[in-house]
Amino acid sequence: MQASIAHNQPLILPEDRQAVDQVLQSGWLATGKKTRQLENFFASYMEEGQAVAVSSGTAALFIALHSMQLGKGHKVAIPTYSCSALLNAVYMVGAEPVIIDSKNDDFTICPNHLSQYTNKLDAIIAVHTYGAHADIKTLQKFNVPIIEDCCQSLGGYLQNIPYGKNSHCAVFSFYATKIVAGGYGGLIWDRDGQITNKAKDYINFDCRKEYIPRFNFQISDIQSALILSQLQRLENIKKRRIQIAQKYDHALPIHFSRQKLNFENGALPYRYVIRAKNKKDIEKLRTHMQTANINCNIPVERYELLHQYLNLNSENFPNSEHIVETSLSIPLYPGLSDGDVDRICETLNTLSI
Ligand SMILES: *Cc1c(COP(=O)(O)O)cnc(C)c1O
Repeated sequence: MQASIAHNQPLILPEDRQAVDQVLQSGWLATGKKTRQLENFFASYMEEGQAVAVSSGTAALFIALHSMQLGKGHKVAIPTYSCSALLNAVYMVGAEPVIIDSKNDDFTICPNHLSQYTNKLDAIIAVHTYGAHADIKTLQKFNVPIIEDCCQSLGGYLQNIPYGKNSHCAVFSFYATKIVAGGYGGLIWDRDGQITNKAKDYINFDCRKEYIPRFNFQISDIQSALILSQLQRLENIKKRRIQIAQKYDHALPIHFSRQKLNFENGALPYRYVIRAKNKKDIEKLRTHMQTANINCNIPVERYELLHQYLNLNSENFPNSEHIVETSLSIPLYPGLSDGDVDRICETLNTLSI
């Protein structure tokens, strides 16, 4: 049996360890200089605006909603094919989620489905799913504030504009399995500072003259150093991910396709999600990869769809129901060796159905 290939793994280089070690030696472990540097990095990466680093992507979503004064009596649209973090953030501020189906080709929030609800909405959270750009341009026509969830799409550009820049604010995650891995961590960016200034006030709870309820959602300089160090090579991370995805494109067996994602247009592929016409074929592929000791997974299982959690009628979410039955994510990360990538391509190649 050949050695097993993990589905995902962070790539931590000596310079990352050195960056963390510097913080450990500095005597300052809480939020501080490194975290301010991380925030400044994002302000220049986005070419304007300001950023606040927080403890997680979920915290970033919650604080963004809170800072936009969304809460009781407000309705926030979120895509069913995403993750429970969105639902949790909406409930945490006391707002009501409006669950929306996804598009079958690129898995992002479906504007057509959304148009049924628009007169009742107060905000939309749009996820750039696995790096595919949600249709922000169409969503803007609904005239409600948009939060761009860039937790799976850091490094992505659309027509030379970084993801997240076309809306009221953007949130990022540095969770251990994301494009840049800090263990935990998140960030909020906005253009005019309205949201990020409120966010800063909210997370700085200690030694405040006036009391209002705030909360500790801060990130440590240890995490910020680890994140910053990886951000220095974001371009290389992107190149390697695209290079691997292109190889897979050539190796895809007949009758299979993949999630629509335009890396020719600037997207950074976070997952390589193979699509089959039916469940039987995707099961065959899964078994075939397992036999070769290559770990694959169904990135969102049926039970994880948000409308399933809320016991809503599945018939209203036909695209997402179809996606979860017919998709399989194969390993895609910069830590894969050329040998690993070749082995995955050969294995794909030898599937016959
Ligand atoms: C990971 C993720 C989050 C939550 O980020 P955490 O840092 O894990 O809290 C939110 N939205 C999306 C789309 C994600 O992929």
